[in-house]
Amino acid sequence: MKVIAIANQKGGVAKTTTTYNLAAAKAISGKRVLMIDLDPQASLTISCGMNPDDEEFEKYNVCKLFESKTLAVECAFNVENTGLDNLFIIPSNIDLAVTETKLVVGRNSDVQLRKAVLTLKPYFDYIFIDCPPQLGTLLVNALVAADQVIIPVKTEYLAYRGLEALMNTIKDIQSGDGDRSLNPDLEFIGIIATMFKKKINDNQDVLEMLKQKAPILGIIKDAADVNRTIAAGKPVVLANKKTATGRAYINIAFEL
Ligand code: ADP
Ligand code: MG
Repeated sequence: MKVIAIANQKGGVAKTTTTYNLAAAKAISGKRVLMIDLDPQASLTISCGMNPDDEEFEKYNVCKLFESKTLAVECAFNVENTGLDNLFIIPSNIDLAVTETKLVVGRNSDVQLRKAVLTLKPYFDYIFIDCPPQLGTLLVNALVAADQVIIPVKTEYLAYRGLEALMNTIKDIQSGDGDRSLNPDLEFIGIIATMFKKKINDNQDVLEMLKQKAPILGIIKDAADVNRTIAAGKPVVLANKKTATGRAYINIAFEL
């Protein structure tokens, strides 16, 4: 059983796309997989063809994980399935932004998700957490709940520059920034270089720089089919298994 956080404080680097495709690839291979949508913007929920504002998700959504441990299991199984056997989701909605504000002022604010995830672990082979685009309390909760973290990085210079801050946050969580380490067992397993454009020199240079920073788990090319399949409510690994992007995600998932 593994809990994997897909994290980067930058938006638009393919966190959600990566979460959905790695999780779907694992589910297709027969594993029981849960995705937790930890972004108030609910892109993962929407990608699965669900409406985050739907009444049925009012009772069972990611906010409940921060309220009660027993509700966590109900959230994973009472929500309409993703359409793929073995692939479950705890959906998000904008209320998660309010949950985060309450967390910040509460006690033990960093370990709340970890407690909920511990109750979910027996039911799944993999749990993937799609993180929000800020270095805030929700992201820290994800990194404290996770066994491993993967950073998708858009293969361009500004995205590369943001990497250091996240790696420092990961180090703080592993080793403690002064007082206590929140998750000494957290493993940073590597980077996925996303939206790579081979013909652009800057992309090649950034890829070389990324290789100096951490292991590269895979390279995902910039490809129009990724967007098309999202609109269709399907991950690219399912809709277009034979495309380069689909295959690349399947290969990365295989190693996890
Ligand atoms: P994040 O979760 O980091 O904000 P998303 O996964 O939502 O990023 O991706 C941002 C946008 O880029 C989306 O419109 C998505 O469809 C698109 N995208 C993701 N991966 C690729 C790719 N390999 N090629 C082209 N577009 C992509
Ligand atoms: Mg996202």
